[in-house]
Amino acid sequence: MRILMKVLCVGCLLFRAYFPIPCMGQIILVEKGEPRAVVVKADHPSDTALYAIEELVQHVERATGVLLDVVPESETPTDVHTHVYIGETETARHNGIDVDQLPREAYVMRSIGNDLFIVGRENDKNPLRQNNPDVGTLFGVYEFIERFLEVRWLWPGELGTYVPKLESVEFWTINEMNVPALAFRSLVWSRIRGFAAGNQKLSAEDERLGFSQEGAEGYAKALEALLRRHRMGGMDAKTPTGHAFSGWWKRYGEEHPEWFALRRDGTRGHPDKDYPNVPMCVSNEELQEFTLDQWDGESVLLLGPVDRPGRCICDNCRAWDGPQPENPPWFAERVYATDDRAKDLFAGVTSDRYARFWKTLQEKAAQRDPHAVVSASFIYENEFPAPTREIRLNKNIYGEFVQWQDPHLRWFPMPDEAFDWIQSQWLGWRKTGIRMGYRPNYLHDGYVMPHFETLQSGGFFKFAYDHGMEGARFDSLTGQWATQGLRLYMHLRLMNKPELNVETIRDEYFSAFGPASETIERYFDYWEDYAFKNRMQFIKLYWDVGWRYRIYVKKAHLAFPQECFRPAQELLDQAAEQTQNHSLSEYSERVRFIQIGLEHARLASALTQIYDGSETVSEDKQDEAMEALGELVKFRKEHEHKYFSDLLHVSNFWERPNMDLDFLMDRMSTQ
Ligand SMILES: [Zn+2]
Repeated sequence: MRILMKVLCVGCLLFRAYFPIPCMGQIILVEKGEPRAVVVKADHPSDTALYAIEELVQHVERATGVLLDVVPESETPTDVHTHVYIGETETARHNGIDVDQLPREAYVMRSIGNDLFIVGRENDKNPLRQNNPDVGTLFGVYEFIERFLEVRWLWPGELGTYVPKLESVEFWTINEMNVPALAFRSLVWSRIRGFAAGNQKLSAEDERLGFSQEGAEGYAKALEALLRRHRMGGMDAKTPTGHAFSGWWKRYGEEHPEWFALRRDGTRGHPDKDYPNVPMCVSNEELQEFTLDQWDGESVLLLGPVDRPGRCICDNCRAWDGPQPENPPWFAERVYATDDRAKDLFAGVTSDRYARFWKTLQEKAAQRDPHAVVSASFIYENEFPAPTREIRLNKNIYGEFVQWQDPHLRWFPMPDEAFDWIQSQWLGWRKTGIRMGYRPNYLHDGYVMPHFETLQSGGFFKFAYDHGMEGARFDSLTGQWATQGLRLYMHLRLMNKPELNVETIRDEYFSAFGPASETIERYFDYWEDYAFKNRMQFIKLYWDVGWRYRIYVKKAHLAFPQECFRPAQELLDQAAEQTQNHSLSEYSERVRFIQIGLEHARLASALTQIYDGSETVSEDKQDEAMEALGELVKFRKEHEHKYFSDLLHVSNFWERPNMDLDFLMDRMSTQ
């Protein structure tokens, strides 16, 4: 048993704002296994405060075995050492804590005498909603749990919550006010989101292959709690983004073809009147005026290009472009070269052109409202490289960085040169003076395989944070916690505490495996090395498909053949041995969790090997395929409640669109 003692104002080094330190006191929640505190709530507490109290009491109990009493403020007992006031209370107000003065998502954690106050703005909306800004009280409680109980939320559910055992929870004076370092923090949910509210039904086909209805709901709820514990949110403060001109061709193409991109054949727009992704002729002044007229004058003016590479080739637009390099970097050729998908349009880099377009519109909008904000939306596709000519933009223009285009740049790990290059593009855009967020797609990668890394993605995140990133939103959370969980945990931690270093975060994760922590580190290093060693091979394997993340499943057995699993299994066998006799069974259960992920990946790779890239399986292989699928599905059904994988995403997004498993399942059910 450890005794956790934090001496003096622990927050002073870490936090931005602090108050004069009130008289010294000692906060004691639990002392040598005995309760020394009560938790005090308002007589009419908000839902947020009640939820925060539930979280606090539950985690303290798991850490110490002590269940703290919760009392309403009017019944506060005087004969306890410490009162822990959670949320807006009369006593907090009386002591000068004015929540109305606090920024959104902020909390105050302050000791006064022997008492502790954790409080922020509250409302009665769902405290789990990521667009609810009045959750300071809850965020303060999470900070307390993370710092003073050293709890680590590794993956959804109880096993993924690592709560070190403590005899005592006590510390001296604390006084801080804190707001999240990043304005918005998000991993975009997959379709599982609807199941958190309990009002969505699984399709029979998805249910046959993966989650049961109950499993999907349990997972979604545990995931929602996990994301909040890591303080994902701030989405109401994010500048909106989007492909603003999608659908304009259909709406305005007939009347104003000149507003739309000139093509190589001399026509404007697109032969298909309904085609949604026709780029605009952004140098056209009438289009600019019209775009402005459409704007309500209040909300953010959205100017994101359509979601398709290729831009207008007219002389006016081309005159706005910077020079195109004669010898583009080898890892970025597709950024500059003619892309098949853009063959009728200009396929080079149009960053200078769009920077000028955004600036022109921002200046026009500012004539109506000097504070008008223009959203360039995505720094992506033809606009990904930083402008080459000197252009001065400003803080009223916002863009989100999305590395994509060339297959060398899409995924981590990428070639070292590519990694350096994307950093220069970030810096180049930053130099223009715009505000920037980060919105990459690489978490889509890897299917259920142990395909991940932490070195580059962690490094880039920290780089972006050091260079002005105001928030991050990742597409998408595929939920492969038992195979890619280290990387997911790192992302959750970095979004909440971008100043943490990657090594510290990794160590936190490994510590949850107790006596096997070093072996588990070697296990994850094995896969991280595997990803780095094979990075060029992975790029080649999926070279000609834009949708690597969607069709990854088709070549999973080539990326992860059966033989690559053996050394990893041996490491996990060792880890299992190291933990099997420990008095705390949670360590061996966590090793087992990682084993489940690995076994699941191996079974999935065995199945994709039979399909071998085809969507159907030939007659002579059907029995073999049925056996492999039967084994895989049985394994999932046995382990779904561990939450090792978002099995809905696995079946619905990856497997069923790429392999005709429904046919096999039908056949199996009739046998
Ligand atoms: Zn044009």
